[in-house]
This record gives sequence, structure tokens and C-alpha cells, in this order.
Amino acid sequence: MKTEGLSINLATVRQQWKLPEAVEACRRHGITWVDPWRDQVAAVGLDTAVKAIKDNGMRVSGYCRGGMFPAADAAGRQAAIDDNKRALDEAAALGAKCLVLVVGGLPQGSRDIGAARQMVQDGLAAVLPHARSVGVPLAIEPLHPMYAGDRACVNTLKQSLDMAGQLGDDVGVAIDVYHVWWDPEVEAQIARAGREKRILGYHICDWLVPTKDLLLDRGMPGDGVVDLPRFRRWIEAAGYTGPTEIEIFSAKDWWTRPGDEVLETCIARYNDTFK
Ligand code: ZN
Repeated sequence: MKTEGLSINLATVRQQWKLPEAVEACRRHGITWVDPWRDQVAAVGLDTAVKAIKDNGMRVSGYCRGGMFPAADAAGRQAAIDDNKRALDEAAALGAKCLVLVVGGLPQGSRDIGAARQMVQDGLAAVLPHARSVGVPLAIEPLHPMYAGDRACVNTLKQSLDMAGQLGDDVGVAIDVYHVWWDPEVEAQIARAGREKRILGYHICDWLVPTKDLLLDRGMPGDGVVDLPRFRRWIEAAGYTGPTEIEIFSAKDWWTRPGDEVLETCIARYNDTFK
């Protein structure tokens, strides 16, 4: 079973293990890439996290997450910018290939999604020089529109690429199939992302029917309605050669199973996406 090119987003086993144990388990299963979350790093301390990554020979496909730029006032927006700079410093220490951005929704009390999107654009511009100075590019992750209110007012790959295009180099996209699989323009926009050299990450899981929880009921690849082999062909045709990251939040299913079973299943289903 092939593990080369597979990355495990550590949210997938967040209930089973702390970061050092999760990384060690990935190594045992022959996995060589991970994507940790900030709270998982904070729980053990940055130095311990860096040592665990290094000792297990892991590479870091991304760091989750920065973003959350919109805020009700200037002080709030500045606090978000400062927090993103700290996230970039942590990402650099971990050797992460990019900082994954969940850009944020509408500020409290606002009904102006256009203004929120402008705050995202301005926040990205404010953080970008720091990203360049530490050598960690910014990966805008468009989220499914059901999250536009509270998590991300950037919802399509086209919108993300347009934003990145206004900012220049060192900004790209994290393409998470869960969020973009429904978009009739997605094939064309994946090709565009490749042409513009902006694909910084590729995340997979599956869309379950029915989905029982808007956040914590993501499916294991192969258990839902997304044609993942087709997505793989599109991503490869766009020239992307980086890792494929499995990222699953699953409060009632995968988070309740033994971690080794989860990793074994991830490897098997990752292999199935090549069929
Ligand atoms: Zn993702």
C-alpha cells in the first residue's frame, strides 16, 4: 500500500492522540507528511512539537490555521493581523510549506459581506510582508458557502485566485475537496490555479449524504458523493505534485475509533483515489 505523497491533517486524529504521539503513529504507518493545528502545537509547546516532527522525520504540508481577519473595529483587525504573524512564526519553526487560512466571516452585528471580504483582502496584504520574511506562503482556503457567515466569506476557488492575483507572489490556495466539490467552475479553476502556480495544498475527505453536522461530520474518502479519482486527475493535470492531505472532522465516527484504525483506513482510501 502506497503512503508516499500522503499527508495526515492531525485534526483527523485529534481526539486519539496529542501531537507527539500522532506524529509517532504516522511514522509507524509509513506516513511522512503531517499538517498540525495551532491548538495541538500549543498543547505541548512549540519546541516539543518541532522536536517530535524532526525526530520522526516528518515533513509539514501546511499549518492550520491563520486567517479570521474581519473584526468589528480597527483594534480587532490589528489583533488578527498580529495573531497571523505569530502563526507564521510558528509555521516557519515547524518547517511548514504554507500557512492555511480560514479567512473569517462577518464581524459581530454586521450584514455587510462585501465589507468583510475587503477586510480579508486588507488583512492578507498586511500579513504578506511577514510571510515573505519568514519564507512561509499564505494559502487561502475557500470554504463551502454554508460557512460564509461565521468562518469564511471566501467561498470559491475563483474568488480565492482573484484575491491572490491582487496580492502577487507568495499567496496561493489550499484546495479542499470538501469545500469546492459542488462548484460547476471547479475544474476550470483548478487548471487556472495550476497555470498561475498557486496550488499550495490539496485536502481530501468526502461529502456524506446526509451530512448530520455542518462542521464535524466529514466523511472518509470513498464514503460519500465526491468523485475523488476525478479530482486527482484534475489536480495532476494542473501540475500539482505535492502531498494529498486527508483532513477529517468526525465527532461521532472517526474520532471515536482507535487511531491506528483511522490511519490504516486513510492509507487504504488514499490508494483508492488513484483508481
Ligand atoms: Zn482543508
